[in-house]
Amino acid sequence: MSFTYLMELPKPSEIKKKYPLPEKLAALKAERDQMISDVITGKDNRFLVIIGPCSADNEDAVCDYVSRLAPIAEEVKDKVIIIPRIYTNKPRTTGEGYKGIASQPDPEKKPDMLAGLIAMRDMHIRAIAESNLTCADEMLYPENWGYVEDLLSYVAIGARSVEDQQHRLTVSGFDVASGMKNPTSGDFTVMLNSVYAAQHPHHFVYRSHEVETSGNPLTHVVLRGAVSKHGNCVQNYHYEDIMRLIEKYNKMDLVNPAAIIDANHSNSNKQYAEQIRIVKEVMHNRKISPDIHRMIKGVMIESYIEPGSQKIGDGIYGKSITDPCLGWEDSKRLIYDIAEMNV
Ligand code: PEP
Ligand code: MN
Repeated sequence: MSFTYLMELPKPSEIKKKYPLPEKLAALKAERDQMISDVITGKDNRFLVIIGPCSADNEDAVCDYVSRLAPIAEEVKDKVIIIPRIYTNKPRTTGEGYKGIASQPDPEKKPDMLAGLIAMRDMHIRAIAESNLTCADEMLYPENWGYVEDLLSYVAIGARSVEDQQHRLTVSGFDVASGMKNPTSGDFTVMLNSVYAAQHPHHFVYRSHEVETSGNPLTHVVLRGAVSKHGNCVQNYHYEDIMRLIEKYNKMDLVNPAAIIDANHSNSNKQYAEQIRIVKEVMHNRKISPDIHRMIKGVMIESYIEPGSQKIGDGIYGKSITDPCLGWEDSKRLIYDIAEMNV
């Protein structure tokens, strides 16, 4: 019943120095951050598509996947900005199971935190170099921000973390678009309070330093569906849900009101193929309501090379070992359809 301190880990500055982002790619990231920021602030009418596997479990398969996205991103670039999901840290409902490459670089082996930090950074840099796309990750452990702050173009705070003070205060120091998910209970007030917290400056303790943050005006919401007290999934992507969100957003003192619809998780009840219908419903609602058009700035889709999911150890290349994902062919078609429907 105690901690065993196994080793002291290198500081973010040390890891960054050892595994730097090439200058050319840093310029690309700055450009993409600005584009994404312009979507969130309403200056750019393109639609964000945050797409990729539930967990980035294997560097080769993930980079292969991201490289397949690159030519499609180029084809649809007038209508859509593709942000690949490279999720290196996985929240687990009971604390058990695979916690992501940042904890377990090899899902079949023991946790190794130093190798994990390096694997996380390495995979993000390789993906950018091979695709010219900067990516999204979940900031499950706020203290990990420094290890990837120069790499990520989008950060999500998950449903299980969004009510936590340290997560909220840490987001207030991020300089990229940050999505706060609704908690699993579905309470919009908790989610909007987290946006309020992150949009304002704070003074707190971070990685054993006393710090001040500026507030992050690019913080917005992500709707991922909810779970009722009886354990059933309750969707929150429908017309009425977005109207209710708009009403609540308007009552709060928040800048850049914006929402991303997460089509999987409790919105699809993990019926991954339903993501196609859900995304199309969202695109349709944007067409018929100018208010919804203004509010919904993008979607999040769980997608990988192979459809569905597998158990760890089954060894199928490009198939999810966490939440079931849409397969490559369906994902590709869906991106084209989104581009066509973004009018
Ligand atoms: C995810 O995006 O894979 C995820 C774990 O989401 P949530 O926090 O909404 O469950
Ligand atoms: Mn998932």
